[in-house]
Amino acid sequence: MSAAVTAARAGLVRCGSCEKLSRARPLAPGARARCPRCGAVLWRRKPGSLERSWAFLLAAIICYVPANLYPVMEVGGPGGSEADTILSGVQAMFAVGWYPVGLLIFFASITVPILKILSLMGLLVSVQRRSNFSREPAGCTAPAPHPVGSSGSAPQATGRASPL
Ligand SMILES: [Zn+2]
Repeated sequence: MSAAVTAARAGLVRCGSCEKLSRARPLAPGARARCPRCGAVLWRRKPGSLERSWAFLLAAIICYVPANLYPVMEVGGPGGSEADTILSGVQAMFAVGWYPVGLLIFFASITVPILKILSLMGLLVSVQRRSNFSREPAGCTAPAPHPVGSSGSAPQATGRASPL
């Protein structure tokens, strides 16, 4: 199995504003490459993407708690209506024999968000620790990162985004 061809390995950079792919060119130290179509600064990596991802993950964890503690639906019947949380709504669906609907609500509203949170947490920890898990086949080593336009010598990876 061969290593996947990525845009970075092919010497391409995507504009974050207009999505145009541009070929990486050598730059003077401190210079910034700009998109030929829209003029936006081109980045090899989106600046602060890890920090933003952690912030969104934390927000998701915080929002998950009230989403499951407060009523989100009202089930009505001849005897009146009752406000239900997601979990009590699932129990109400099971009580009236609507098992497929109850299961669907349970998986879509409780299980899937937890799996997404755990998956994203695992991915972020993996990226932050620079883990190679399942990125390359066993026995292969990933090439060292280098700035766009350089033709060989790779500086040390700093983990920070740098303009092109
Ligand atoms: Zn652009």
